[in-house]
Amino acid sequence: MRLKDRLLTAFFIMIAMPIILLSVAAGTIVNLQMNSIQESYDVDADTIQIITNPIQILNRLTRGTYNEIKLAALKTPQMLEDKAYINKWNEELKDKYSFIIVRKNQEIIYTGNKDKLTIISDDLQAFGVYNTDVDGGMYVGGKNPFLVKAQDFYFTDGAEGTIFVITDLNTLVPQIKSLVKQSVISFLIILCFTAILLMYWIYRSIILPLNILRVAMNQIKDGDLDFSVQPMSSDEIGQLCDDFEEMRIRLKELIDSRLQYEEDIKELISNISHDLKTPLTAIKGYAEGLVDGVAVTPEKQEKYLKTILMKANDMSTLVDELSFYSKIDCNTMPYSFKEINLRDYFDDCIEDLSLDLEVKNIDIRYDNQIEDSVEVVADAEQLKRVINNIVGNAVKYLDKQKGILQIRIHDIGTFVKVEIEDNGAGIPKTDIPFIFDRFYRADASRNSKKGGSGLGLAISKKIIEDHAGKIWAESVIGQGTTIIFTLKKNEKLDGKRNMEK
Ligand code: ADP
Repeated sequence: MRLKDRLLTAFFIMIAMPIILLSVAAGTIVNLQMNSIQESYDVDADTIQIITNPIQILNRLTRGTYNEIKLAALKTPQMLEDKAYINKWNEELKDKYSFIIVRKNQEIIYTGNKDKLTIISDDLQAFGVYNTDVDGGMYVGGKNPFLVKAQDFYFTDGAEGTIFVITDLNTLVPQIKSLVKQSVISFLIILCFTAILLMYWIYRSIILPLNILRVAMNQIKDGDLDFSVQPMSSDEIGQLCDDFEEMRIRLKELIDSRLQYEEDIKELISNISHDLKTPLTAIKGYAEGLVDGVAVTPEKQEKYLKTILMKANDMSTLVDELSFYSKIDCNTMPYSFKEINLRDYFDDCIEDLSLDLEVKNIDIRYDNQIEDSVEVVADAEQLKRVINNIVGNAVKYLDKQKGILQIRIHDIGTFVKVEIEDNGAGIPKTDIPFIFDRFYRADASRNSKKGGSGLGLAISKKIIEDHAGKIWAESVIGQGTTIIFTLKKNEKLDGKRNMEK
């Protein structure tokens, strides 16, 4: 879920959850309390009425009996001096938590409940105070609440009389109070519960992943780039974790490649110093031999001078290779791309090579299966450098008396595939994936004698890739190596030719 939707959901839960839970809780509480009220007072009113106007409900409860007594008081007041008559009504009211009081002048001549009379007696108003026209009673609050209905009348002897119907609210009011109390408590509990639930949810989905991200950032700050962050969700924070992880991996790769680069530079410096030192030592030795007059005969002197020249050439080649590699590595190599006819190009190439190889007792087998018209857009000089590097390696790593070099060229659709196979020492399987890395030498100690810099194939790879091709190697140790590369055909010309057909 997206963060926006999550916050919206949280908002709705915050609103809806308390409402639903409160409705359920309030419904249950009100139901229980109402049942108890209805049972206690034997009322038949609905819940809303009981809650909104409980006094009126109870007022209604005793209304019938009260009216009868009222009528009797007004029409036949002598009846109110008859204890048996009043007792009858009083019995009827007892079930409704009510009782009757009859007052004559200031004296109470009848009470249906002596205990409660002592509680309420101070609250009973004097004759003439009650408004008898109003239907309903008067609420007497305080610690012991009562509902008082009263009717003034005159006894037959002219004495002032008041008949009271008192309803005890001591059970109802606490019940309603506790109902309100319970509702408020449950409201608070539900509110807290919802808030805790939401806090936990937000903590789990927002704060927890943010904390993990913070820890990860601190780890990176301290240089630990291995601390990986797994996204816990697919929302914006999950995406942030993904981006963070991607950034960490890139940073790690960058630092690793930087470290590797520094290692390479160190290795390069050590290689250069070693590779330069070997011919330099030889040059120094032969030159000293000449100066010291060790080479006495003209033949010997010529041999010394030739060796010095050869070693100087080796050094010059190495320096050239290094400066070329630095150019190609920084992408500052100015290629001069031209349309080249591949058949003509390779035919010339093989002619050049065959002279050299013949001297080295290496047979060359050339199999060109492409059409005469196939062209590539390439830098002829750099392509030649690639071929020279590969053929040079084939010569360098030849361990047989008779060398065989096979060059095969095939048309494979959009590309031309060139295979150069030798019958040399071969490359161990574990080294094959790395031979195109700069400064990589399969068997460094053995190969150092052969004078390689470990740059030849790295340079070749870069040149081929700059020509939109690929280069790879296949090799069987002891049997030989095949270096294969592809070159993209000149499609413009290819298209034109197809149309002519
Ligand atoms: P180098 O200057 O050392 O030859 P390269 O980049 O040309 O460097 O080659 C890298 C390594 O690959 C060499 O050191 C060698 O071990 C191995 N290699 C390349 N070509 C051949 C081959 N034809 N036969 C055997 N080993 C080879």
